[in-house]
This record gives sequence, structure tokens and C-alpha cells, in this order.
Amino acid sequence: MRQDFKISYSRINSYLFCPYKYKLVYLDNIYVPVSVEITFGRIIHKTLEQFHSLKELNHDLLFECYDDSWRNDGFDNPQQIFEYYQRGKQMLENYYRSFKESNTEVLYVEKAFDTNIGKYKFMGIIDRIDRYPDGAYEIIDYKTHIRAWDPEKVNKDLQLSFYAYACKSIFGFGPKKMSVYFLSENKKVYAVKSLSEISNAINVAISTSENIVAENFDPDISKCQVCDLKFKCRFSVCRVKNLHRRN
Ligand code: SF4
Repeated sequence: MRQDFKISYSRINSYLFCPYKYKLVYLDNIYVPVSVEITFGRIIHKTLEQFHSLKELNHDLLFECYDDSWRNDGFDNPQQIFEYYQRGKQMLENYYRSFKESNTEVLYVEKAFDTNIGKYKFMGIIDRIDRYPDGAYEIIDYKTHIRAWDPEKVNKDLQLSFYAYACKSIFGFGPKKMSVYFLSENKKVYAVKSLSEISNAINVAISTSENIVAENFDPDISKCQVCDLKFKCRFSVCRVKNLHRRN
């Protein structure tokens, strides 16, 4: 294992999905096809990053940032480009309205961090950190899925626990609130995390890192059907079926 080994939320997620997928993506550098949803999500993240870096924040400037961040690459056809562009516009209209009504100060946007979890380096990017007038902080993660997750799924997700830990260890403050902001529905779903849940998430990060360092990359073939490497992986049950079908 390389000396500069670092863990992140996406790496942990990939390993927990299937250890062999982690190996293919992060060690063998096998290209993972980028979906249209991911392309669209990146455009929206970039738009909001650009917007919040401006001195003056108004409606027209938000849409200038959108046009500046927009790329046609990654979409399948002009109709799809048009539909996603319109969807993004609606999303940002709603976002802007809520932003103007909010009483928080946007402190950080797309804040990259590097910290340690146990003896392992941990890196990530927090989409947004806000400060309330009473001094409380909120960590916000943007998602551009069509449908918002239910609170149970938001609570189970490890990402906000990692970011709460990182916030405390790097900036010295723990967030009072943690939310996933589902931009398609302009809806924030709040996570309620106890200290022991955050500590459990940290233990998952440590045990995953230990497994990676020990090179435990057993394939989990129960996931092949929904894996985006199902036609590239030698253990994939879908690939085997596909070969049989061709013969
Ligand atoms: S195709 Fe199956 S075994 Fe291969 S990486 Fe994906 S989930 Fe793992």
C-alpha cells in the first residue's frame, strides 16, 4: 500500500459497496462511466461555489454563474441538455428564494479539508457551513437527486458524521445542525446524530482503512447487478451471463 494512502467518504462508500470495486477504481484506475446525474450535480455544485464566492449576491449573478458553469459534455442528446438545463434553472430559482429568506451567514463553500482519523489521513470537501445569528453552526451537504431521501436514510448515511468530526478537529467547533439539502425539492432533511453514532462512523472509517491497507479486496457479487463496473469486472455475475448469451 502506498505511503500517501488517504481515505475519504467516497472511498469508504466504494469499499463498503464492494471491496473489489475499491481496488478496481482506486488501485487499478479503471474508468467508471460518469452518469448524466453526476455531470448535472457537478454543474450545480460549481454554480453555487462560484455564486457564494462573489461579493454581491443577486439573482442575475446566480444565473450568470449557472451559464458559466454549464457544460454540454456528458449529456446524451440536445433534448436531454435542454431538460436538465431547465431543471437546473428551476432548482436555482427555488434555492435563491430560500437563500434570501434565510438568516444564516454562509461561512464556507466547497471547503476542502485534510485531517486524521486514527492513524489514517482523511480528506473531503464540505459543501457548505453556515453560522446562525446565535453563533451555532450547520453543515450542509447538497444533493441533486430527483427525490429527497427520508430522514432515516439521511441519518444512516456516514458522510455527515465524518464531516461533523472533521469540523470539530479542523475548525474547532462542532455543528449544532447537519442537513442534506435536496435541491430538486428545495428541501433540507436534518440528521440527528448522537456522539456515539459519530464515533461508530469513525470506527467504520478506521476498520475500512485497515482492510484496505491489508489488501482485503474480496468481491461482493451480491452487488453486481447495480454496479457500474459490471461489464468490466472479472468477478461480475453479469459479465458471465453476458458472455454466455453471446456464445
Ligand atoms: S461487478 Fe460485482 S464483484 Fe465486480 S466490482 Fe462490481 S459488485 Fe464487485
